[in-house]
Amino acid sequence: MSRFSGKRVLVTGGAGFLGSHLCEHLLIEGADVLCVDNFFTGNKRNILALLDHPFFELLRHDVTFPLYVEVDEIFNLACPASPIHYQFDPVQTTKTSVHGAINMLGLAKRVRAKIMQASTSEVYGDPQVHPQREDYWGHVNPIGPRSCYDEGKRCAETLFFDYHRQHRLRIKVARIFNTYGPRMHPNDGRVVSNFVVQALRGDPITVYGDGTQTRSFCYVDDMVEGFLRLMCSGDDFLGPVNLGNPGEFTMLELASKVVELTGSRSSIVFAPLPTDDPRQRQPDIGLARERLDWQPTVVLDEGLRRTIDYFDQVLSGEK
Ligand code: NAD
Ligand code: UDP
Ligand code: UDP
Repeated sequence: MSRFSGKRVLVTGGAGFLGSHLCEHLLIEGADVLCVDNFFTGNKRNILALLDHPFFELLRHDVTFPLYVEVDEIFNLACPASPIHYQFDPVQTTKTSVHGAINMLGLAKRVRAKIMQASTSEVYGDPQVHPQREDYWGHVNPIGPRSCYDEGKRCAETLFFDYHRQHRLRIKVARIFNTYGPRMHPNDGRVVSNFVVQALRGDPITVYGDGTQTRSFCYVDDMVEGFLRLMCSGDDFLGPVNLGNPGEFTMLELASKVVELTGSRSSIVFAPLPTDDPRQRQPDIGLARERLDWQPTVVLDEGLRRTIDYFDQVLSGEK
């Protein structure tokens, strides 16, 4: 299988968690990969193994500034994704989503490249419809601490569809639900990395609120396969399309799974629920099943085992 053979593919945010896995898979699929990253949350270590590959190129660049390169396809992933990171400099977060999208769309327009946007389930906000389907418009606070991310991503979707309508650009919009796996940032505050690191260290596991809020967790390899299928889908299919694993768990269930799989003695402690924390989240992936013939294959226990192995190595200094 070499779906990207000979294609020049730009991955923005390519040194991040999802981006580094995407670059790796694109190289396997025969692409000539240009990875662009400003290393805000990404890390050279994530792509260390790729640096010697003859078809891999790394460029340190901030997508809020124009970028002139010649490529055939663009995956636009640049944007901090965890609440701790995107709330660190909220103005820069909005700029990255909005100015970054304008620049990458301007680039795609000039070179007539196909372009995919890494959007998010956060466009649904704290959803009043469950599970979330793509035709749900969402329930988003425009002025809260999560808004820089949620509204930035919503505006980016608007820009993608306007460039399509106005300039006939070939666009694809993926709405990504919580994804986890090796190379998650150990300190990014996301629930899977927090729980695994806490369990491995024997520290108390911090459950926010009463732990009954739910999320649906997709293993990274499944997500990357979704990206590749979306990019290869027919030009009439633009999305937005939900990509995620419909298996839904409460945070308390996740905490006990992590304790069990690590064999940890950690206790569970409760901490306050962050502002605007969505109560529930589960993707309806009917559209992805139908149009991309895609669905996740890695169950939570298996994905957690692989993630635990990774963090075990990170904590013991091997990675
Ligand atoms: P990440 O923080 O690991 O990766 C983001 C990458 O973008 C990092 O390498 C960072 O340095 C880079 N970046 C940030 N601002 C930049 C800028 N201005 N110019 C260039 N590079 C910049 O996060 P991730 O989990 O890999 O997320 C990748 C994309 O997927 C993001 O757009 C995110 O919003 C989206 N997403 C992720 C999830 C998830 O669960 N991981 C869920 C929904 C959406
Ligand atoms: N742009 C870019 N690379 C390119 C072409 C454009 O970064 O190869 C940027 C450019 O700086 C511009 C933005 O993309 O600000 C939007 O481009 P577009 O052509 O849509 O708009 P205009 O140039 O007319 O503002
Ligand atoms: N969460 C938690 N303990 C933690 C980190 C997060 O209970 O140490 C909760 C958080 O309040 C949210 C869920 O886990 O309800 C998922 O949080 P995350 O930041 O991973 O993703 P998002 O809220 O963006 O879906």
